[in-house]
Amino acid sequence: MAQETLFTKIINREIPADVVYEDELCICIRDIAPKAPVHVLLIPRKPIPRLVDASEADRELLGHLMTRVGVIAKDLGIEEAFRVIVNNGEDAGQTVFHLHLHILGNKQYSEDQLGF
Ligand code: 5GP
Repeated sequence: MAQETLFTKIINREIPADVVYEDELCICIRDIAPKAPVHVLLIPRKPIPRLVDASEADRELLGHLMTRVGVIAKDLGIEEAFRVIVNNGEDAGQTVFHLHLHILGNKQYSEDQLGF
């Protein structure tokens, strides 16, 4: 059996987390080491390791995640300015190999900060 990811343990309530949203397909928690005043992680319950591992069968799930982003951003009051980031692979900064979307808000972004 595949090893449980950190996020599966959070989903199964084996590890505590500050949950800001959840439904039958996903959970959204506050990041333990926030990189912006609002920094949450939107995680599918299905443990897809990386974005590149998602398949055609995950089309609906990925669409669901994207539509939840707006709902969560509104709930958190950051709908006017936020960023969504997915790190794919170790060299891109991925540390937890269970797909997740970073939603970062309430921070003034400039070209200096992220370089694009
Ligand atoms: P990645 O680097 O894989 O794109 O993002 C993983 C994120 O998970 C990091 O931003 C990190 O701060 C966060 N993280 C790591 N361990 C925990 C934890 O135990 N609880 C929560 N809430 N976030 C975590």
